[in-house]
Amino acid sequence: MDAKIEKLVPKLKMRNFEVRCCETADDAARLAADMTENDATVAWGGSKTVAQTGILELLRQKGCKLLDRDSAKTPEEREELMRRGLLADVFLMSSNAVSEDGILVNIDGMGNRVAAMCYGPKNVIMIIGKNKICGTLAEAEYRVQNVAAVKNAERFGLTKTGCSKGKCIDCLSEECMCSYVVKTRRSKVPGRIKIILVNEDLGF
Ligand code: SF4
Repeated sequence: MDAKIEKLVPKLKMRNFEVRCCETADDAARLAADMTENDATVAWGGSKTVAQTGILELLRQKGCKLLDRDSAKTPEEREELMRRGLLADVFLMSSNAVSEDGILVNIDGMGNRVAAMCYGPKNVIMIIGKNKICGTLAEAEYRVQNVAAVKNAERFGLTKTGCSKGKCIDCLSEECMCSYVVKTRRSKVPGRIKIILVNEDLGF
């Protein structure tokens, strides 16, 4: 296991996060599926990591009820699915970055992803690749807006944000992905936020 992961585990545990470690994305997907009840309602934030692991297919095979906003046929239906996600049994996501002392940093344009992380779903399962582990909190914040956001701007085909041109300019564009910049210092409810650290690079 990468030394960065080994050092991070106790820091996360001190903050009431439940922590597991996996060698590969496949292992992480299987573990996350095992941690989810067969009849659970599951929602997720837009996440390259979640898509990459194949976890959604495993949950579908288990019979979990997936609240897939991308299956919506109208904007209204999509909005409704996002709202229902706030009361899911399990919310899946990654974190845009985590500092070496265990603070999670996340940006969100709409806010539904960070809202679900903070409160609502009974369980939050985060799958975090080792590429998201930073040094100081300042370095984690830099990563979120100058590495993750740059790649996400490209993924979503954005053109109006600074990061779509390669660097955060603290924009207020209608396309802004940083309406909410959330630092999570601890899980208020012990173990509600369950972190799976993966010894591979995953997502942005
Ligand atoms: S340029 Fe705007 S959207 Fe991009 S990272 Fe900065 S504040 Fe966020």
